[in-house]
Amino acid sequence: MPGRCRCRDAFQYESSKVIRIQSVHYGTLQWICHVIVLSYVSFALVSDKLYQRKEPVVSSVHTKVKGIAEVSEETMENGVKKTAWSVFDTADYTFPLQGNSFFVMTNFLKTEGQSQGRCPEYPTRRTLCSSDKGCKKGWMDPQSRGIQTGKCVPYKGNQKTCEVSAWCPTEAVQEAPRPALLRSAENFTVLIKNNIDFPGHNYTARNILPDLNVSCTFHKTQNPECPIFRLGDIFRETGDNFSDVAIQGGIMGIEIYWDCNLDRWFHHCRPKYSFRRLDDKTTNESLYPGYNFRYAKYYKEMNIEKRTLIKVFGIRFDILVFGTGGKFDIIQLVVYIGSTLSYFGLATVFIDFLINTYSSGWCRSCVYPCCKCCQPCAVNEYYYRKKCESIVEPKPTLKYVSFVDEPHIRMVDQQLLGKSLQDVKGKEVPRPPLDFTDLPKLPLSLRDPPPVPGQPEEMQPLRGEAGPSPGDGPRWCQCGNCLPSQLPENRRCLEELCCRKKPGACITSSDLFRQLVLSRQALQFLLLYQEPLLALDSDATNARLRHCAYRCYAAWRFGSQDVADFAILPSCCRWRIRREFPKSQGQYSGFRSPY
Ligand code: GDP
Ligand code: ZN
Ligand code: ZN
Repeated sequence: MPGRCRCRDAFQYESSKVIRIQSVHYGTLQWICHVIVLSYVSFALVSDKLYQRKEPVVSSVHTKVKGIAEVSEETMENGVKKTAWSVFDTADYTFPLQGNSFFVMTNFLKTEGQSQGRCPEYPTRRTLCSSDKGCKKGWMDPQSRGIQTGKCVPYKGNQKTCEVSAWCPTEAVQEAPRPALLRSAENFTVLIKNNIDFPGHNYTARNILPDLNVSCTFHKTQNPECPIFRLGDIFRETGDNFSDVAIQGGIMGIEIYWDCNLDRWFHHCRPKYSFRRLDDKTTNESLYPGYNFRYAKYYKEMNIEKRTLIKVFGIRFDILVFGTGGKFDIIQLVVYIGSTLSYFGLATVFIDFLINTYSSGWCRSCVYPCCKCCQPCAVNEYYYRKKCESIVEPKPTLKYVSFVDEPHIRMVDQQLLGKSLQDVKGKEVPRPPLDFTDLPKLPLSLRDPPPVPGQPEEMQPLRGEAGPSPGDGPRWCQCGNCLPSQLPENRRCLEELCCRKKPGACITSSDLFRQLVLSRQALQFLLLYQEPLLALDSDATNARLRHCAYRCYAAWRFGSQDVADFAILPSCCRWRIRREFPKSQGQYSGFRSPY
């Protein structure tokens, strides 16, 4: 029973039926597609090492900056400009930072001798005032250096600014010195120690080899393995000028990429260094360019706490370690092969696309109907027909009609709503081609028909004289043999169909109709063929013969079984059959849609 699930159904194997097209062209095309797919899959497997299980790197970084810089600082002492020289070593210019970063100072602004007190603000547009009214007691501007006292006091000469309670004297607002004070920091070197680990593969490595020459310096081509970098070289690699960046500071990324092949036969695990400027070098001056921060050195002078405030400009180096370690893994290989198998189906998709697109349906719609492509189109059409079986939705409204004076059949898929079926246009569909191999299956009597008295023993053409002449029957009849339907009013229009579209001889007058549809002997043969022990003399026999005759007519005129199920018999044929195999009492029930 359909729809019922039984245990036995679980133990069934379902396989798809295939159509093998014996074509050199398509066979070659399929092999070409397979070779392309195989080449790509193999190339990707080897080049991306997709047979390996990959794991991201875990790492630790340690840096050491070395170098000495001599700095000349200009100071004002009693109104006289003085130049003081000082030497900066590692402790002066590097600052401990968290994470994988280190900082090198390249420029600074110093405000010396600050202590807690009250003093005028540094004059800017925001802090200038002319009287106490311009200042507000307790006002704290995030941009200012202290809390306003509400007084307006002279700063220098007749310039007056608001007084603040702050570290005095307040820091001057000024540009970073140009050129940078520690511009010679470009000669500093940094040693980067990087230990990595692939826990899943139980493998550790370091970027420093035991035989490292400690006096080496990294060079992209000549010494790419050396972990000692000259700061100026790093900037040269990214196309920047160290002296320019040194003025405002910046952020530089040092990337260490580990692409490790941990397979014994191709073992390779060395780092690759590259550099990337990480701050926004295009930012214009007003948008806080570069990288700077403030720090203070505190001391006591005559028991007063004092500090030297330093605004430090410099370069922060961020060390970014990334990469993967891969080792052969059979599971990865199987998964990869499995995932690529579907690509071999591309050949089928491609060739099916060609067959569907270049079948003659496409040719018919192309601009030049008789173009050169029609030969392959015809071949493709043949393949298409073999491959594709189209099925019309079996709706209750679906019907097929066939007129003896038309080469095609018509599909009607609508409610008739009182209109005779004869008058409905419908959609033309080609008559299914006759399968001549079916002819030997016809009952023997048909292949050798008994002669009709008075007629020669050959197929006789349609004879016009049988039955009443056109005009006697209903309005829609063209053959003169149709009769009005017996059906109730609402279904009557279904049987208002003639065997012809235009006036002429009726199909019931043809010899073949008699032999194929009306021959009692042939129909009995068919019924017995289905049910060999059928009692043909019972009362019900006439009904069975009648229904069999309907089916014979439908099979003859409509060809395929799918169409015949929805075929409507013309009234003349219907009544001719009913006359031959009548029903003793009651009304005929007429056509019922099988769905
Ligand atoms: P009944 O024998 O009293 O039921 O009435 P009919 O002689 O009209 O036969 C009814 C059977 O024949 C039903 O199964 C119908 O589906 C079928 N039948 C009647 N007319 C047609 C027709 O035009 N086309 C097809 N395909 N089947 C028909
Ligand atoms: Zn008719
Ligand atoms: Zn007719």
